[in-house]
Amino acid sequence: MFNSIALVGGTHGNETSGIQLIKNWQKHGIPEQFQALNISLHIANHAALNANVRFVEEDLNRQFTLNGLASSNSSKEALLARTINAQLGPKGASNTDFVIDIHNTTSEMGATLIILEADEFHVQLARYVKKHMPEANILVEDEKPFLEHGYLCTTGKRGVMIEVGGQPQGVLREDVYLLTQTMAEVILAFCLAYNQNTIEADSLPPCEAFRLGENISFPLDENGQRTAMIHHALQDADFEPLVPGMPMFRTFDGRDITWQGEHETYPHFINEAAYFKLDVAFATAEKITL
Ligand SMILES: [Zn+2]
Repeated sequence: MFNSIALVGGTHGNETSGIQLIKNWQKHGIPEQFQALNISLHIANHAALNANVRFVEEDLNRQFTLNGLASSNSSKEALLARTINAQLGPKGASNTDFVIDIHNTTSEMGATLIILEADEFHVQLARYVKKHMPEANILVEDEKPFLEHGYLCTTGKRGVMIEVGGQPQGVLREDVYLLTQTMAEVILAFCLAYNQNTIEADSLPPCEAFRLGENISFPLDENGQRTAMIHHALQDADFEPLVPGMPMFRTFDGRDITWQGEHETYPHFINEAAYFKLDVAFATAEKITL
């Protein structure tokens, strides 16, 4: 039963879709059909939003580990994380039943629902979202227990992320905004149905999903400088199969570097701008059924 739902935008200050959705619902009210739900609306990082940057000192969406919250780190975002944790959490003994945190990506990932557990509840949610929004992608990041993630949404008893792209940082695109709004509304409709006990797990057809694999780095030279860029055949091909032998990088001296994995993989976060400093080129995933 969901008695309290927190909908969050602006965890990253230059991801505009969630920020705009929160502002619009604060101004005009949450859509009528969700009045029965107890939904609170939050902008997480006002300072980053005002500066139109992802974060001021540290990535807020990595600060919510139990160790991080208990540490003496005094960066702006570490302090903000403790304030948010007091408001929405406390993590591990939360007063919020469900935290939905809205993000954008510069990658062509469409509307992606990121779930951190593949238990019965999340399988039902994934199937429901896929049924009502067939164009949605479901990404499962359950490589570690829910509470070990540093994500803001883990302050709730349950938490998920909406990740929509491609949209440049600081830019608001209508198509991406509408996908964001639709996915938020479908998740809230699921919450309503869940509360009313009208969801029968077996009535929802199994759905396709992607389970996170590993991050693939750009090739670097001995000075840490990139020697290649994403190959044009891979660019914007998020969640499409990358088969062994297919090109993934084009070196600056004109050679192709191909995928040498044993199996096909499903790249996503391809050329994500926020991973620039990490030199992450994309993440891999395997296709699964939930
Ligand atoms: Zn983000």
